[in-house]
Parts: sequence; structure tokens; C-alpha cells
Amino acid sequence: MPRYDLHCHSTHSDGLLGPAAVVARARKHGVDVLALTDHDELSGLAEAREAASAEGITLICGSEVSATWEGITIHIVALGIDPANATLADGLAAIRVGRSTRARRIADALATAGIHGAYDGAMRYVTSERLVSRTHFARYLVESGHAREMKDVFARYLTPGRPGHVEHEWAKLSEAVGWIHAAGGQAVMAHPGRYRVDTGGMRRLLTEFRDAGGDAIEVVSPSHTRAQYAEFATHARILGLRGSCGSDWHGPGESSMELGALPDLPMGVVPVWQGW
Ligand code: AMP
Ligand code: MN
Ligand code: MN
Ligand code: MN
Repeated sequence: MPRYDLHCHSTHSDGLLGPAAVVARARKHGVDVLALTDHDELSGLAEAREAASAEGITLICGSEVSATWEGITIHIVALGIDPANATLADGLAAIRVGRSTRARRIADALATAGIHGAYDGAMRYVTSERLVSRTHFARYLVESGHAREMKDVFARYLTPGRPGHVEHEWAKLSEAVGWIHAAGGQAVMAHPGRYRVDTGGMRRLLTEFRDAGGDAIEVVSPSHTRAQYAEFATHARILGLRGSCGSDWHGPGESSMELGALPDLPMGVVPVWQGW
């Protein structure tokens, strides 16, 4: 059985290694099929594709699209998209513009809380002039001693109810799925276990996603416990969705799961890659 890792990041969004280095590392860790899924971005795929063909591994062109559903942020992983598709590229470009204005608002919110210089500080961690993320603020806040590690920063400063949190509208769920399908890809609900919704809310979210044309649920993810693998496998079976797996790897020392170090999908889940 080939080893699949269908979710990871490079310096084209908030990862620490360039696309070719991510591909080389995936190869070293035994990955046969890798999807590079930078946040709201496709610009790393050309380099990744070239590196993958040199390394002899299969590269799936992907992205992780930011969406808003009932006021909460949801991530939709796109798999097997055509990077040249204008509908998807234009949609993502609009999201990236929103990221830039949000970054100013995050910095203002932090300044109000007494943390000054966060905008310039975050910018020093940005690795693509096209994309700024909360991760870049988090790295600066650790560097400047406001938190000890990345996990603490989000919990203390960058999540709802915390001083550096700002509301933001991303794409609609149906828009994200529509763009992905327009580009010939499959839409995967990323790490559903991370969303703060109750049991009824989760059922509603996944059902709306399915009804919008969603294809799969990311069942195996470092954001999930073993019990959640089973839980989301059941959701997938009941809703007629497929299952995916991804390490959501961001960089050495910043990720709890190594590239390719993924347990098998639970029995009874139709893999998102069936038919590839
Ligand atoms: P953004 O899309 O700019 O809102 O940033 C979201 C990114 O922040 C995610 O993709 C993760 O890389 C990172 N992130 C969010 N929550 C955490 C956390 N608790 N610990 C570490 N990284 C996180
Ligand atoms: Mn990220
Ligand atoms: Mn995500
Ligand atoms: Mn991710």
C-alpha cells in the first residue's frame, strides 16, 4: 500500500521549509503520495511538482482554503486541483487580500493590549510577500517573550476571547467547494475535531458540507485523538463522504506529527484517493 500524506505546508504559506525541501523530507520519511496544501495559495506547487518528479514521488496539487461557517473559521483542503484554474486562483487571491487587512487589525488589537511592534515583528517571519498568517504573529510573540511556545501563543493571544483575536470573514463554505470543483479537485473538510461546535453543530456542519458538494472528511490528523478517528470515520460512512489523512506538517520542531507518520484510515472508510 502506498503511503499517503495529503496535508502539509511550505514557506509559500506558514511552513518553515520551501516546497522542494518539504518534498525531499517527505520522501525521506517514506511518503509515496504527497499533497502540498499551502493556506489560500497555489504558488508553491510548481516547485513541488518539479522536486517530486526528481525524487520519484507523486505530488498531488492542493491548497487549504479558509472559509467561514456560522461565524467560525473552517478549513477546506483541496486535492487534485489544476493550479492554472482562474476561478480558484481568483478566489484565493481575494482571501489573501483579506489576510493582509486582518494582519493590520491583529497588530492593532495587540497594541491595545500593550504589545507594540507586532506588525513589523510578524512581517519578519513572513516568507512569502503574498501571504501573512497568525502563525507569523505567533512566531514573533514567542521570540519577543510573550509566550514560551507556539501552542501557548494561540491559547493566550490569538483565539476567540483573547486580546489579539479579531473577527474575520473568509470564503463561504459553498464558494470554497465551488472553486475547488471548478479546478477539478476534491474538497476535504480539514481537521473537523478542531472546530468548537457541539454534537448537533458538527452534524449540521458536515451535512451542509456534503450538501454543498463536499467530497471527504480528514479523518486522520494530528488534531484528532484515536477516538476521533473512529468518530469521524463514522460521520464519513453515514454521510457518504470519503476519508482523508494528513500530517498538517509545518516544520521541524513545530509539528506533533512527522510527514508520512500517519496511522491507517479506519476500516470501512472509502479513501479519498480511491480511483486516482
Ligand atoms: P490563520 O489561517 O492565519 O488564521 O492561521 C491559522 C494557522 O495557525 C493554522 O494553520 C496553524 O498553522 C496555526 N495554528 C492555529 N492554532 C494553533 C495552535 N493552537 N498551535 C499552533 N499553531 C496553531
Ligand atoms: Mn498553518
Ligand atoms: Mn488548518
Ligand atoms: Mn494545515
